[in-house]
Amino acid sequence: MTPAGANGDGPLRLDIDLQALTANWTWFRDHSHGAVTGAAVKANGYGLGADAVVTALAGAGCREFFVTTIEEAARLLPLADGCTVYALHGLRPGEKPITGIVPVLNSQEQIARWREAAPGRKCDVMVDTGMNRLGIGWREFETGMLDGLNLGTLHSHLASADEPDNPLNDIQQRRFQEIVASVRPPRAALAGSAGICRGPDFAFGMTRPGLGIYGGVPHPMAAGCLQQVVRPQAEVLIVRHVAVGDIVGYNGMWRAEVGTRVAVLNIGYADGYRRGFSNEGQVLVGGERRPVIGRISMDLTTVDIGNAPVDEGDWVEVEYDLPAASAVSGQSQYELLTGLGHRYQRRYI
Ligand SMILES: *Cc1c(COP(=O)(O)O)cnc(C)c1O
Repeated sequence: MTPAGANGDGPLRLDIDLQALTANWTWFRDHSHGAVTGAAVKANGYGLGADAVVTALAGAGCREFFVTTIEEAARLLPLADGCTVYALHGLRPGEKPITGIVPVLNSQEQIARWREAAPGRKCDVMVDTGMNRLGIGWREFETGMLDGLNLGTLHSHLASADEPDNPLNDIQQRRFQEIVASVRPPRAALAGSAGICRGPDFAFGMTRPGLGIYGGVPHPMAAGCLQQVVRPQAEVLIVRHVAVGDIVGYNGMWRAEVGTRVAVLNIGYADGYRRGFSNEGQVLVGGERRPVIGRISMDLTTVDIGNAPVDEGDWVEVEYDLPAASAVSGQSQYELLTGLGHRYQRRYI
């Protein structure tokens, strides 16, 4: 599973806990009120490696996988025996249908293209209920637009599901409910991870969780119910002693008030460890939490290691619990996952 170009012995690893991943998916399945539970695995499985993610989730019983393009779906299809892979961006101009891949058609143009390219073949349709992103707008939607389509699932998507008190959630739910009642599709789907947490009215016949499977907490209701999946591990390049009054790193964002032992780690913002962690992040050094000091560089991070027994060549874990890391860094949990980059050796445990 080492990505192309990465040296298996490099100084940066990403431990990915597939048992935690499948446990998280199972939690969403158990809270989907009987709906079929799929998984969003776009952006290379939210940055973790779609191949390993799909294989693990299929092993746990997931049969429906959502990615963006047909091309992305085609790469996963061989891994997902007996499963359906959905292309959320529908059928783009010039794109060819591929057997076994179900496009989610997002406009009347895409529907016309599908009718032409794959008459009678299974497709899904997205209606927009207020987000104004993908899908046929709820105002102009008419049941007749779907005539003659071999419709599988009718979808919509929530704009603010992670804001428990936002009234748009219920408004979107009602608009969707109305369309579903008139179309009577074989199946309907509205909820991602956060939508599932909103309860039975949002489950419909299928759910599409993403973030929460990877350990992100999408909604307060899921806090404490999901396990951390991703753990970045970085090698210590150098341990140095910083004299009192000296600065560490670019722009002297940190200055030693006492003499300080500092480990220089082989991880930086090019690895998704963004500058928001400067002076704020934490690193687990021999079971102890130690503070990141100074500014995160492109390839390097500096840590006050106190008296911890750490030396060149040792490995330390960079604290990356997603809700906490998001609060500290100001990055969304989604960006923290998908920004992890290509220099990690991904180790699946
Ligand atoms: C990405 C995506 C999801 C998954 O959303 P999460 O917030 O990651 O759970 C669900 N549905 C659609 C249409 C998506 O694009």
